[in-house]
Amino acid sequence: MDHLWTPWRYTYVTTADHAKRQGVPEELSTWPGDTGCVFCNLVAAVEYAEIHGMPSEKAEKAALIVHRGDNTYVVLNRFPYTSGHVMVLPYEHEASLAALPASIAHEVMDTAQGLETVLSNTYHPDGINMGLNLGKSAGAGVAGHLHLHVLPRWTGDTNFMTVIGETRVLPEDLETTWHRVRENFLKNI
Ligand SMILES: [Zn+2]
Repeated sequence: MDHLWTPWRYTYVTTADHAKRQGVPEELSTWPGDTGCVFCNLVAAVEYAEIHGMPSEKAEKAALIVHRGDNTYVVLNRFPYTSGHVMVLPYEHEASLAALPASIAHEVMDTAQGLETVLSNTYHPDGINMGLNLGKSAGAGVAGHLHLHVLPRWTGDTNFMTVIGETRVLPEDLETTWHRVRENFLKNI
């Protein structure tokens, strides 16, 4: 059961540029900074690329970001448990849900509502997991910056996972997921 309810207890693996700045994709590595946080780096690198003339869609694709709202954004997990595994997170670097300003916390939930529709329409799953792991002991891969995991589930996927251990066979590559989720996001939200 532990396995069933903590599918996000896996290392958040990111592509890193040569300087090993967490979360900075190679295509966005002209950004010179480093916030020390994978999720803050991701957004800063996208914004920097845009300011310097890269089309938003190209920059977001490099970062695997499917949506940017006023206070939150949605990004694919680079190490998905299932196809369509995304995360909603605030731009604000905050570890605690309680400490997050209410308006931002509400936007996280509004976005999660939208994602339920988007993932249902895109993947037709049997169910959807949504979960926050607050703190390292709770399984957070990046404990300093809270992120809500949202992932489609299919009957039997856990059994399958158990059989093959922690080696996951992914039916869909990240670029395809990015296109599909983004298109549905634009249609539905
Ligand atoms: Zn952060």
